[in-house]
Amino acid sequence: MHNALIAKYNVPGPRYTSYPTVPFWNTAAFDHTVWQDRLTTAFAMDNYADGISLYIHLPYCESLCTFCACHKHITRNHAVEKPYIDALLAEWALYCDWLPERPRLAELHFGGGTPSFFSPQELQRLLTGLFELADPVEASSSGGPDFGWEGHPNNTTAAHLQTLFDGGCRRVSFGVQDYDPVVQRAIHRVQPFENVRRVTEEARAIGYTSISHDLVFGLPFQRPDSIRQTVAQTLTLRPDRIAFYSYAHVPWIGNSSGAFGQRGFQDADLPTGEAKRELYEIGRELLLAAGYVEIGMDHFALPHDSLHVALQNGTLHRNFMGYTTTRTDMLIGLGVSAISDIGTAFMQNDKDLRRYQERVLAGQFPINRGHLLTDEDSQVRQQILDIMCRFGTVWATNELSVGERTQLLMQLSEFRADGLIDFDETHLWVTPEGRPFLRNICMVFDRHLARSQRTERLFSQTV
Ligand code: SF4
Repeated sequence: MHNALIAKYNVPGPRYTSYPTVPFWNTAAFDHTVWQDRLTTAFAMDNYADGISLYIHLPYCESLCTFCACHKHITRNHAVEKPYIDALLAEWALYCDWLPERPRLAELHFGGGTPSFFSPQELQRLLTGLFELADPVEASSSGGPDFGWEGHPNNTTAAHLQTLFDGGCRRVSFGVQDYDPVVQRAIHRVQPFENVRRVTEEARAIGYTSISHDLVFGLPFQRPDSIRQTVAQTLTLRPDRIAFYSYAHVPWIGNSSGAFGQRGFQDADLPTGEAKRELYEIGRELLLAAGYVEIGMDHFALPHDSLHVALQNGTLHRNFMGYTTTRTDMLIGLGVSAISDIGTAFMQNDKDLRRYQERVLAGQFPINRGHLLTDEDSQVRQQILDIMCRFGTVWATNELSVGERTQLLMQLSEFRADGLIDFDETHLWVTPEGRPFLRNICMVFDRHLARSQRTERLFSQTV
């Protein structure tokens, strides 16, 4: 790839799992009563049409990986499991009491943290409690149900895999990151290939139909030969999907777990700019040569996988869980710090673990903050979704003033001159050369970013 393009477009930018992005939520205008009204309205429209989505945040990890920007709590004390599952079930009961009908689940995802931190017995208790109050959608309805979870290869057992499979999960993703021992030590995540092989083969034997491996490029000490080796080892297991994420270096995000004390690298050990992009290009070429298809941003799938089928059907969607195959307009997030997205509003739960548990057990929705989408937000959100999921959008909307249209045309013309997009009077298309710069192209439409006077660091670099 052209060095000059990387230098030009390697700027801080959002990953757009939502629009507006969380730093630009208008929390002062958020109103709990309006949120609950909108929740009821969205539910009434979606529950019997497509069903709803449920994300469950399981925040505990036994050991801290120092590259991680997730909301997690590090502990080896497994006594925390029971009270946390109690809190999740209390929160779910609050929703089910509030909602006018029994929910139908099209999508269910257990993320973390580390879901496999929890014992199979506690996960079974969670599944039983969830389905006492809800039903999965029928298999024919809009591609669902699509249930999945995230497993850590070091502590996922056959009993975990079986319990969640019996609960309806057919998709599991394993965090691999990198197989190079030097990189693993630097990020404080030592994880032998043998562990990944074991869980992958066990999942397949049980009947999981979509097994994903998460790799990360841009980690400390990664080199072209080490990324080749990691991808080659991954290909021997032939997972159905591979997420090949860019390491988001966001050291200003606070971490109460002592991340920086354990960090085995300096900023200078990180590949950046052209060197980082080369790692992606090496991985991408190997994956394409092995028969994987590039999906949206940072994702690859074998042609039979539902992510590729969704891309072909035009149903690929993106939300706080990343890329999803089922588009529902209502996502409820349960658990500490979890985010709900009901189409017209976002809401994030309390980020303090103890307070979250106390509030739900006291019968309160654990609301921390939220954003009510304006008409402009909804329109831009659709444009960004189109670019992220379908590599194109309608750029010339009726709402643009003459000045805004002129400004937008200037920005789009620059992308076209660089070969990243093409456009006509109304539509734009991302070229193959433009795919590595999807975040930059979306930023052109981000009105909150354009108006922002904020100077603190908010986002990782786009390259
Ligand atoms: S990468 Fe996963 S296991 Fe590691 S600290 Fe983050 S959430 Fe926990």
